[in-house]
Amino acid sequence: MLKDTYAEVMELWEVPEEFYEAAKPMYRDYEAALAMKMGKKVCSGTQICQWIMEEGLKNPEELLFESYQRNVLKKSELPSGEMGYVTTTFYDRYPFFAQYEPEEYAKYSQEMVDRLNQWDLEVYFGYVKDTVLAVAAGEDVPMHQSQFLTLEESWEMMDKLGGDEFIVFPCNCKAMGRCTEKPINVCIGKVERDKVNTPYDRKLGKVVTRAEIKDVLTMTDKKGLMHSGEYDGLCSCDGKYCYPIKVAKTLGTRLNYPKSHYETQWDEEKCIHCGKCTKICNFGAFTKDENKKVSFDIDKCWGCTICASNCPKGAITLKKRADIED
Ligand code: SF4
Ligand code: SF4
Ligand code: SF4
Repeated sequence: MLKDTYAEVMELWEVPEEFYEAAKPMYRDYEAALAMKMGKKVCSGTQICQWIMEEGLKNPEELLFESYQRNVLKKSELPSGEMGYVTTTFYDRYPFFAQYEPEEYAKYSQEMVDRLNQWDLEVYFGYVKDTVLAVAAGEDVPMHQSQFLTLEESWEMMDKLGGDEFIVFPCNCKAMGRCTEKPINVCIGKVERDKVNTPYDRKLGKVVTRAEIKDVLTMTDKKGLMHSGEYDGLCSCDGKYCYPIKVAKTLGTRLNYPKSHYETQWDEEKCIHCGKCTKICNFGAFTKDENKKVSFDIDKCWGCTICASNCPKGAITLKKRADIED
């Protein structure tokens, strides 16, 4: 099926032509058959199961759920008000493949991974650019990863999110970049039982308690991941793979997006030059010279705060920025 209708189905999934071959392992043959029948229409689960059976397959409900779980399909309302399914695009599917099928993704060449990342980042950039600039200009618009939080503030944000259960799932930025140097299972969301197209509804990730989330955030702090969060969840980001940070670097929004509430202050007198901050900082603001002497360049600092929580001597402190409103 995929072979005969190759180009047509790739177009339906909005796969750029240069990735037709790379996209093939991300889809199953019956999913290509479904895409051809569904087009861009919302279809009922019953109809989709019928089409799956016409492909000579058993357990259609299971396969339908797997395609939903894999984000090849997403839920959408039918005109009748009942819940149906619609085909997603390659831009939706690719991160799920990287996040939840890492063994398969590991088979891709580094060159291909770099190209996929570059394309994906460009699409993301197009979607968020204006909103990021608005946030950086001080407008109050909802945006993922709009502000940095201290470790304590991230715990408080968790309280604001409400609920006793949370879901931890793999960070898609790090997964798409095949990050190996930092923990990946660090994205935190609320458990919203009545919402569709969430990791919870797709039975992905791990449901954990409030106390366990505190442990996850403490662990990420120690591993040099930066806390951020707002209405939709909590992030633990890094400076190399994180898309919002890459966008911020391109747009030159340091300190304004992600918004930093603190100015970092370094007390050289208290510093024992252990070098921990040079490993923690994602932006090279703390460096060590050939004599193992540490120095701090405030112009490279993004105000993410994690060096302060990790300094063993209290040599790094945070001063509330006067020019920033909470
Ligand atoms: S914004 Fe940060 S935590 Fe969220 S997916 Fe990207 S790197 Fe991961
Ligand atoms: S972590 Fe603290 S004590 Fe260690 S080098 Fe950095 S500022 Fe100095
Ligand atoms: S120096 Fe600045 S950017 Fe680096 S860890 Fe500290 S607060 Fe974050």
